[in-house]
This record gives sequence, structure tokens and C-alpha cells, in this order.
Amino acid sequence: MTDRRRLNDRSSNRLLRTAIEGVLKRRNRTIVDECRHCGTSVSSPEHTCPTCGSDEIVRYTI
Ligand SMILES: [Zn+2]
Repeated sequence: MTDRRRLNDRSSNRLLRTAIEGVLKRRNRTIVDECRHCGTSVSSPEHTCPTCGSDEIVRYTI
């Protein structure tokens, strides 16, 4: 009984892992530019904050 239960756990774990890996791969390609000054997300290629005008933009890859 215990062995059968263990087998089921293993197969569901594999499915879960595949799903998580897919999400992580997608997230790795997400680049976020954020103002260092006020935290506003910036998408402009000039990298200037539209809220406070600061050019201190930090780039995160998540
Ligand atoms: Zn700003």
C-alpha cells in the first residue's frame, strides 16, 4: 500500500516539476526596467523615468 502511494507521488512530482520549469524558462526571458528613484516600471528605450524624470534605471531579469 505504501509503495503504490509512493509511485503516485513520484509521477505527480514529475508533472509539477515540468510545469514549474516551463514557467521559470518563460520568466527568465522577462526583462524589467525599473526606476531606481521611485520604482516605476519603464519600457521606453531612452530609459528615462516618465514619473520623476530620473535616468537611473535599473534592469532586472526575472
Ligand atoms: Zn522615477
